[in-house]
Amino acid sequence: MTKRILVYRPLDEGQLARLERDFHVDYLPEVSRAEDPAFLDALTQAHGLVGASLPITPKLLDRAPHLEAIASISVGYDNYPVDELTRRCILLCNTPDVLTETTADTGFLLIMATARRAVELAGMVQRGEWRESIGRESFGTDVHGKTLGMVGFGRIGAAIARRGALGFGMSILYSNSSPKPALEDELGAQRRDFNDLLAEADIVCVTVPLTPDTQHLFGAREFALMKSSAIFINVARGKVVDETALIEALRKGIPHAAGLDVFEREPLPTDSPLPHMTNVVALPHIGSATQETRTAMADLAVANILAALNGERPPSPVNAST
Ligand code: NAP
Repeated sequence: MTKRILVYRPLDEGQLARLERDFHVDYLPEVSRAEDPAFLDALTQAHGLVGASLPITPKLLDRAPHLEAIASISVGYDNYPVDELTRRCILLCNTPDVLTETTADTGFLLIMATARRAVELAGMVQRGEWRESIGRESFGTDVHGKTLGMVGFGRIGAAIARRGALGFGMSILYSNSSPKPALEDELGAQRRDFNDLLAEADIVCVTVPLTPDTQHLFGAREFALMKSSAIFINVARGKVVDETALIEALRKGIPHAAGLDVFEREPLPTDSPLPHMTNVVALPHIGSATQETRTAMADLAVANILAALNGERPPSPVNAST
């Protein structure tokens, strides 16, 4: 019997052709809700899943009795119940490394745009309101030479810090579950206790994964510890931040400004005040969203599912011991 792969994110023709060589593909690239009847129907027959952004719950897994492997087109795997997948001997794969540099570019884009008020001031030009040289009230703050505090110092955190240290002469502090001596040597980075980092950094940048430990890692207490001039950047996951507390803190002016690629609810609800706050730069979760990187991520997901369903070790498994 030919195994079936349910693909619920867009792939290009070549990627689909690689899957179709040995497998039957149910291609539903536009599915946005797990309740979609076509998705549920295909799930009951699927041996493999390729997709992203849909929470795959144990209840959904109950409807997928043949499932052997999932290839997520993402590095973060907070949408998957990893222990439950392992218990059911379902292999989960993700796409690390290929998106690191692009996501770090997005992190630095947010640092620069927020510090220099690029979106707010570009809006002024666009609306035809630039009538004289800008005054002090429109000045931004420098990024070069400042202290960058990385919360999470893995692949993406290190790549952002590298840009800061080598390109902008920044001092690097980090808070991470384990020490990173090689990065300390490479970048002169110094490890700090979380609270100390919040108090010392000019720019606090979050790149931890979303886990039970990191959910709402940032709330009213953490924002109150920051400098009044601090800039807060989140390219990790929205739920790492208590967004209500962030909005309140930004209204009080501590931190001074925020650059956000991710939100507690995505797409961001239309009644959220965040996009209307002049001290916020809000992006629609574009961390890895370039042509090159999204292609590389999908290529890796295809390689993962092909290996997994052919009984080989995939390039990037998450729960490898299953
Ligand atoms: P990674 O290499 O695994 O780095 C994560 C780092 O966070 C690791 O160094 C880890 O420590 C540390 N960490 C984990 N839990 C922690 C905690 N409770 N306190 C302090 N540090 C903790 O992952 P990555 O490739 O850099 O990706 C990081 C996250 O970025 C992903 O999980 C994803 O959610 C997010 N992301 C977002 C976008 C976007 O579009 N905005 C794109 C890609 C990724 P250890 O080294 O000790 O394990």
